[in-house]
Amino acid sequence: MSARVVIVGAGPAGVRCAEALVAAGLRPVLVDESTRDGGQIYRRQPEGFRRSGETLYGSEARKAASLHAAFDRLRDRIDYRPDTLAWNVAAAELHVIREGLAGALPWDALVLCPGAVDRLMPVPGWHRAGTFSLGGAQVALKGQACAIGRRTVFAGSGPLLYLAASQYAQAGAEVAAVLDTSTFGQSLRALPGLAAKPGLLAKGAGILAGLRRRGIPVRRGIRPVAIEGDDDHGVRGLSWKDAAGIPHRTDCDAVALGWHLRPETQLAELAGCEFAWDALTRQWLPRIDEDGRIATRGVYLAGDGARVLGADAAEDNGRLAAFAALADLGLPVEPSRPPRLRERLANHRRFADALARAYPWPAHLATTMPDETLLCRCEGLTAGQLRETAKDTGACELNRAKALMRVGMGRCQGRFCGHAAAEVLAAAGGIPPETVGRLRAQAPVKPLAIATDALPPPSEPEAQGR
Ligand SMILES: Cc1cc2nc3c(=O)[nH]c(=O)nc-3n(C[C@H](O)[C@H](O)[C@H](O)COP(=O)(O)OP(=O)(O)OC[C@H]3O[C@@H](n4cnc5c(N)ncnc54)[C@H](O)[C@@H]3O)c2cc1C
Repeated sequence: MSARVVIVGAGPAGVRCAEALVAAGLRPVLVDESTRDGGQIYRRQPEGFRRSGETLYGSEARKAASLHAAFDRLRDRIDYRPDTLAWNVAAAELHVIREGLAGALPWDALVLCPGAVDRLMPVPGWHRAGTFSLGGAQVALKGQACAIGRRTVFAGSGPLLYLAASQYAQAGAEVAAVLDTSTFGQSLRALPGLAAKPGLLAKGAGILAGLRRRGIPVRRGIRPVAIEGDDDHGVRGLSWKDAAGIPHRTDCDAVALGWHLRPETQLAELAGCEFAWDALTRQWLPRIDEDGRIATRGVYLAGDGARVLGADAAEDNGRLAAFAALADLGLPVEPSRPPRLRERLANHRRFADALARAYPWPAHLATTMPDETLLCRCEGLTAGQLRETAKDTGACELNRAKALMRVGMGRCQGRFCGHAAAEVLAAAGGIPPETVGRLRAQAPVKPLAIATDALPPPSEPEAQGR
């Protein structure tokens, strides 16, 4: 019997990992909750849609085609399970569910490649219909070929802010403004690090130039004040202050909001991963070795689910995690390959650090967030209620606040409010955010139907010829 390797995520990291394992003679199981492969950036459009690669993926069309071709070559040599949610990791088994059928996949090695999620700071009124995360706005365009509104403001910071706005403009949607909380000075100071990838730097400059050519206002150093509107019509406009503190209002019927991305780490935590505070990005990141191993034997992280380094890096560390798993299983690995991949990853990390400096997480907005701002949308809790709990009970540890008032306990399990809640608590208690801790992951990582049946057990993997 050959080793049982299970991969979660059929994005760039998961597909390249599967490719390396198949080349070594294994038949890995590849689980993805999506219907089609490709992950976030190279997600294949639904069956029956006929947009070209250029329309869908723009300058990345060639890379998307290469990943899709790799997947198609693998298709019959892996146990591919689309539409399958991995919802728990326990005792060398991955718990999955597909269309109401639940089951467990035993593994000798588990490679987690679940990608990233939007990083959000609440703005008063962000619960109004018409407010989407940046990623959500992009998924609507990529997946369904529709815009989130007739006239959209893009607000937040990070490369995705400009990219998504530019994709909307190119698709013919009206972009009312791009409003960035980071300053031009911060980008300028990060330039030496950004030069680690001159091609991407030039691409970013091209996107900005394109937005300006179309006459779309782009403002830096802004402070969002409120997403205005009413219950009947949803979003009506965004009020904001410019760098000089002068108030403005931009009419719109949709807002795409987001500050970069963060790794999706819940399965990793359930598998026993430890975390370390990263002062640069102000978040807890999984503790991994240079090849993606976590403290638990046989578990590996790759792609944006380990560090948000982008799609090229995800392909590299998907392969690297596969080589680590093969080596740990006692299978041969060509010795020259891991060092080359590690070297490339060091460059990806230099660039990602520079991006974090150029477009920082706006922790300062948590300090001044009005009390009435809805913070935890699932549980309907405001920033003021969280501050009050901290004051009345002294609960300045995030999981204690969760137990007392349910912040982060709803459908999203703190995915959207967790980082902001930590900042609000830290500011309320006058303590550093790392002291506040992080919301602990709980299974199921995403909501499940209560009524389920048993999935048929997985077939034993057979060794394959090369
Ligand atoms: C919303 C969003 C939009 C982005 N847009 C761009 C862009 O336009 N340009 C760009 O350069 N980069 C973009 N990025 C970043 C880019 O997608 C990543 O750098 C790259 O896709 C990382 O590859 P990956 O394989 O690590 O993860 P992904 O490509 O994100 O793939 C992860 C896969 O894991 C699956 N998955 C996650 N959790 C589970 C689970 N519990 N059970 C089963 N399956 C699961 C997901 O369905 C997904 O298919 C975006 C990221 C996000 C989150």
